[in-house]
Amino acid sequence: MLCSIVPPDLLLDLGVDARQLEQASVIRTQRTLLAAAQRSLNLRLTLDEEAPGLLRTIYDAGHGSFGSLPGVKVRGEHDPATTDEAVNDAFDNAGRTYAFYKEIFDRDSMDDRGMELVSSVHFETDHNNAYWNGFQMIYGDGDGEVFLRGCFPKLLDVVAHELTHGVTDFTAGLVYSKQPGALNESFSDVMGALATQYALGQTADQADWLIGKGCFGPAIAGEALRSMKQPGSAHPHDRQPAHMRDYLDLPDDGDPRNDHGGVHLNSGIPNHAFYLAATALGGYAWERAGRIWYVTLTERLGPVSQFDDVVEATVAVAGELYQADSDEQKAVRSAWQQVGLLP
Ligand SMILES: [Zn+2]
Repeated sequence: MLCSIVPPDLLLDLGVDARQLEQASVIRTQRTLLAAAQRSLNLRLTLDEEAPGLLRTIYDAGHGSFGSLPGVKVRGEHDPATTDEAVNDAFDNAGRTYAFYKEIFDRDSMDDRGMELVSSVHFETDHNNAYWNGFQMIYGDGDGEVFLRGCFPKLLDVVAHELTHGVTDFTAGLVYSKQPGALNESFSDVMGALATQYALGQTADQADWLIGKGCFGPAIAGEALRSMKQPGSAHPHDRQPAHMRDYLDLPDDGDPRNDHGGVHLNSGIPNHAFYLAATALGGYAWERAGRIWYVTLTERLGPVSQFDDVVEATVAVAGELYQADSDEQKAVRSAWQQVGLLP
């Protein structure tokens, strides 16, 4: 699978090149094989000496496609800034995401063993998406109409969203289909929002809870890609549900309109639950709600976990971290009740 920031059904609605969508489906198959290889490789790497610390490498894909990744190396960890804004944005936001995970959760990169953060910019020509392919981040330039040029590496929530797919690969391993896929997407949005709030020093009340704010070009009158505060309201084509009564039971049949069984759609429900828990608790969302979600993702879930499993796990983790019937556990339980996942 290829985890993207922009959902395929939205690209269809906007009339984006069908070839871009076909490619994504081919890559999805490759992605599944890569993930399996990565997991077995990871087991072997545990025997090696650890190499912790921040290590970023940025490549220029030179408008080439998946076959030519990563491209030409243009900036390493100790190199100065270049004249290419996309290169510097990808570098800086990978660093901010690393700092968020290290300082808040004491996590050393995606694998917690200092994995190199590899990014390729200028993927294809005018490409309207950003991806995590199991090994690296990939950024299109945007066509300047649907998405503003250079917006993907520029937005910290987009970068942290993609890197969190890497964290998920190394921990819960949630498959990119139906409910596990929607949870995979939701954890990426949650951590993307938290990394941004942390960088800006925002409390839960001060945050806008938007993902991809300001990325749309003149062709679409939308504020952002998604809203955790009000799923379904971010742009005119936004059909994310915020409650289980509106859950979209779509097949995972390869049709881009069905979005792998609604992974970017039904993620609105757990996204909204996180927003409700975080704002009920107040203060910095990464401190309590964020910790509960992080422990759940990294220690309590598996590849086929469903919404109900996350409900049960977050309530249990809240009780373990903050005691039974603590404000934290009550806020988490109430959040799931409000989105229809607990009676
Ligand atoms: Zn994603």
